[in-house]
Amino acid sequence: MRFDNRHAIVTGGASGIGLAIAMRLADEGATVTLWDISLGNLTAVTDSRLRTRQVDVTDAVAVAAGMQEDMAQMGGFDTLICSAGITGPNVKVVDYPHEAWHAVMTLNLHGLFYCNQAAARLMDPTKVGRIVNMASIAGKEGNPNASAYSTSKAAVIGLTKSLGKELAQTQITVNAIAPAAVETPIFEQMTPEFTAFMKSKIPMGRFGTVDEIAAMACWLCSAESSFSTGAVFDQSGGRATY
Ligand code: NAD
Repeated sequence: MRFDNRHAIVTGGASGIGLAIAMRLADEGATVTLWDISLGNLTAVTDSRLRTRQVDVTDAVAVAAGMQEDMAQMGGFDTLICSAGITGPNVKVVDYPHEAWHAVMTLNLHGLFYCNQAAARLMDPTKVGRIVNMASIAGKEGNPNASAYSTSKAAVIGLTKSLGKELAQTQITVNAIAPAAVETPIFEQMTPEFTAFMKSKIPMGRFGTVDEIAAMACWLCSAESSFSTGAVFDQSGGRATY
């Protein structure tokens, strides 16, 4: 199968997009460790190729140690999906609480940086290695009433481009996916007005599905995707214009 003998870590893997990617990687042969701060929703996962680790990805020490341990326990590590993320509140910049701003940056940007850095240190540069970061259309366009989230996702795109170029002479590629709204438990963090606004911006007139994002993520993780790095791939139902 496409991911036989591949070993993946998926952050935010207990829910939504991360869980769908992890399940598809495992279905196609990979050994996968789901990382999440909360593993409470995972009772349905019984597949023996799916391992779990409770990790707060904002803890750089825990990230580096956990990755090293998982690499040893899985017998390798060549694939990282960074899907852990939060939205922060839907308020204007002028009202944005500083604490919430820092919480969004700490997880969406700093946590993702810690994971990318640890993976780049551990992955074998001579073998197929894949890093896929979950950005967002918000990072390309900037959504009103979601400034911290939009800023963090723009930064994820910048980091992806930097690291992709730094590793371009190795076998490791680094790419980002920029979805428009995909209906997952993350919607509970946003106001109904805001999710309606996001849907109204999508020309296809519907939300994306986690399986659509998983299909693209898995192609980016495959050996077949060998000439794309430092790139941003849209899944936006026509919303993205560049
Ligand atoms: P989700 O809320 O379903 O899943 C996110 C997961 O991250 C949760 O399981 C949560 O427990 C975990 N998490 C939170 N804090 C963590 C921490 N400190 N350490 C480890 N794990 C932590 O969200 P989702 O919709 O699956 O989103 C996944 C990613 O895709 C996010 O980065 C999100 O910003 C991005 N994205 C989502 C959408 C969308 O509409 N769903 C659109 C564009 C981008």
